[in-house]
Amino acid sequence: MAEFDLIEKLLQGAARTRADVVLGPGDDAAVLAVPQGQELVAAVDTMVEGVHFLPGTGGADLGWKILAVNLSDLAAMGATPTWALLTLTLPAADGKFVAELAEGFAALAGRYRLALVGGDTTRGALQLGVTALGLLPRGKRLTRAGARVGDDIFVTGSLGDAAGGLRCLDADDPDASRLLARATDSRERLLARLHRPDPRIEAGHLLRDVASACIDVSDGLLADLMHLCAASGTGARLELARLPRSAALADLFDEEQALELALAGGDDYELCFTASAESAEALQGDLARIGCGVTRIGRMVAGEGLTLIAGDGSERPIRRRGFEHFVP
Ligand code: ADP
Ligand code: MG
Repeated sequence: MAEFDLIEKLLQGAARTRADVVLGPGDDAAVLAVPQGQELVAAVDTMVEGVHFLPGTGGADLGWKILAVNLSDLAAMGATPTWALLTLTLPAADGKFVAELAEGFAALAGRYRLALVGGDTTRGALQLGVTALGLLPRGKRLTRAGARVGDDIFVTGSLGDAAGGLRCLDADDPDASRLLARATDSRERLLARLHRPDPRIEAGHLLRDVASACIDVSDGLLADLMHLCAASGTGARLELARLPRSAALADLFDEEQALELALAGGDDYELCFTASAESAEALQGDLARIGCGVTRIGRMVAGEGLTLIAGDGSERPIRRRGFEHFVP
């Protein structure tokens, strides 16, 4: 299959029209109309086989996830996704794989009426990238900076599920065969969190006028909360007993393991945000109404860095922050 046939296949599977796409794929570049009063929000993320996903991961899951991780970045800014560009590097011209990838991508894109407006296709080791574009009412951005001392820290949903799912699949993990043999329902839930993350777009909209700072949890709560602290010029106290963990995670891992996954496991794509206690009260009700769980997990304090507080009130050392490239 030639390059153009592959692109054709992708676009057949994932194309969607929008009135604000002045010129879609097929020319040298796309032309997009940004409405009056809105700002353009842009994010890009890459997934490399063997680094971000295991060899053998299905095309539909990859198509969904490469879009989801980028939409999660838009969610953390409070933006509404509108358009995306897709870069694909494929070891071979595998039409079936590309069709599955387009199907997974389209399934998530359809939820937000997002249009695939262009991309690039090359040969090489398997790698996917999306540039996600979205819109935000002028001046309404939600950023990592802006948390104040005394603000409460919250996180949506539950933490550690995707990292738990990855452990079920990791051939190098001594526990993997035990996990694979057990609790199929819980395991499937964790694997769904790993392969089909659900970007918190609607939650991001609700946070826009209320949160003082926000970040999406992609590299692990500790690592990402540290970014938020650094950007805001504050420290944070995290109450470990409060970290929200799913029933599925508790089913497959003991308390210590589950805590470690919730703190440092990546790929959750939940939103971690700060807000004053007064403004957070109504927000919690609004999030509940859209089916988004939210938990208070700590407080912003003066100084810098994170302090972990165990259930008995004692301080705990930080063992591992989260995923970092280029760090042994
Ligand atoms: P050029 O050589 O001018 O960069 P290409 O031949 O790479 O153009 O691409 C032709 C058209 O197909 C462009 O409009 C491009 O955006 C689109 N396209 C190429 N690869 C992809 C892809 N993976 N996903 C979506 N559109 C793509
Ligand atoms: Mg060109």
